[in-house]
Amino acid sequence: MQEKCGVVGISLEDRAAARPLYYSLYALQHRGQESAGIVTHDGFQQHSHVGMGLVGDAFGPEDLQQLNGTQGIGHVRYPTAGSVNAPCAQPFSVSFKSGSLGLSHNGNLVNADEVGDQLANLGHAFTSDGDTEVIAHDLARNLLEEDLVRAVKRTMSRIHGSYSLTIMHDDTVLGVRDPEGNRPLCIGELEDGYALASESAAIDTLDGELIRDVKPGELVVLHADGTGYDTYQLVQAENTAHCFFEHVYFARPDSIINEELVYEVRRELGRQLWDESGIDSDVVMPVPDSGRSFASGYAEAANEDPNADGVEFAEGLMKNRYVGRTFIMPTQDERERAVRMKLNPIKSTVEGKTVTLIDDSIVRGTTSTQLVELMRDAGAEAVHVRIGAPQIIAPCYMGIDMASRDELIAADRSVEEIRDEIEADSLSYLSIDAVAAALNQSKADLCLGCVTGEYPYDIEGETTDREVDRPSIGDPQLADD
Ligand code: AMP
Repeated sequence: MQEKCGVVGISLEDRAAARPLYYSLYALQHRGQESAGIVTHDGFQQHSHVGMGLVGDAFGPEDLQQLNGTQGIGHVRYPTAGSVNAPCAQPFSVSFKSGSLGLSHNGNLVNADEVGDQLANLGHAFTSDGDTEVIAHDLARNLLEEDLVRAVKRTMSRIHGSYSLTIMHDDTVLGVRDPEGNRPLCIGELEDGYALASESAAIDTLDGELIRDVKPGELVVLHADGTGYDTYQLVQAENTAHCFFEHVYFARPDSIINEELVYEVRRELGRQLWDESGIDSDVVMPVPDSGRSFASGYAEAANEDPNADGVEFAEGLMKNRYVGRTFIMPTQDERERAVRMKLNPIKSTVEGKTVTLIDDSIVRGTTSTQLVELMRDAGAEAVHVRIGAPQIIAPCYMGIDMASRDELIAADRSVEEIRDEIEADSLSYLSIDAVAAALNQSKADLCLGCVTGEYPYDIEGETTDREVDRPSIGDPQLADD
């Protein structure tokens, strides 16, 4: 099951963790809107509350009140097709002979079925079809025989795929990032404790200081008294597989990932977009909200270019923030209507002008098609479209909801065919090389599966872009240390 989510974990010296967890989930709301949850531990027992909907709807004041304890973890969950049901809400929490466990997971395992089947054959009963429960059961089993660090290491040697986890074992909060570092996870210092979070914006919300990203393959154990933390490099992969789409679309622009401010990376992507395929027009216009930083970098580069005429940067599309996410509407008709409800042009910024529309990505093509038409209806003389990412030609198996191949407009069309389909005067995407350059990373260290069709993981029916060292899961009780 795909989990494009946000996770947090907090350990404080002397203050209840529930409210800081709640605030940090607000900061991660963009990573998941289907459900939210918190699990805390008061030194004797676990307390848990999960609820459907946005963070503000999922918790009432009395729910936060009963979440006692100075440590806890939290989760926001993203809705994906066919999985909108309560048993999937996280953190997953359970009590085993080896103690209580809470787990929040962002990512997607590629061998969860295999590991889950094996555990089921050993008598483990699962209440959901989620990866997270598989990880929890595997860890619980290992904890019967090993100390915490070795148990986590053993579980990491059996699961394969993408996982940024916050875990609570009794009153100890842990953070784990998969060996390829596919999804982000960072650690920060608070005035009276430490926090782990998917994105540094959550640490900012708590008035904390970002310390650093959790390293790929690293385990971070927060001390239960909130005074420090220990780290263990448990697994080392030859190359990372950071998801480039986190930087392009998913993460907040005010988060720092891989020591780079996402906003600056997006501006740089916009600048590269001008360098690669800039076109003179009267107005450069972002598709709000995600196109904004790209468009500002693009317009800046255009205006610095001595060979260009200079452009006006105009926020000419107004967004109705009360319309839900068009992307997840079930039918194409609803998606098209929703784009119109969501975005409306300011006519005077468009009328009689040549316009360059800048967005971060085209997935199905619904947004671009609707917006080009909207611009023409508002009197644009020409509509050029520039996209701050390469063509998305293949699905994401690692947790970003991206539709299947037959829904992806670029899966089987050339750029010219897509331009024709969205009825733009011109269309260009950013190259993969430019993305790697703007992210300051080598292509070998990025997950580019959705734009190359080759994945850094061993996925049934797909090709890989590297030698993949998929663990042979072996007997859970005899796994190597
Ligand atoms: P589409 O209309 O299907 O071409 O989707 C492209 C639009 O959706 C762009 O404006 C993106 O900012 C946004 N988008 C891209 N990827 C996602 C995603 N995984 N979830 C939600 N929105 C997305």
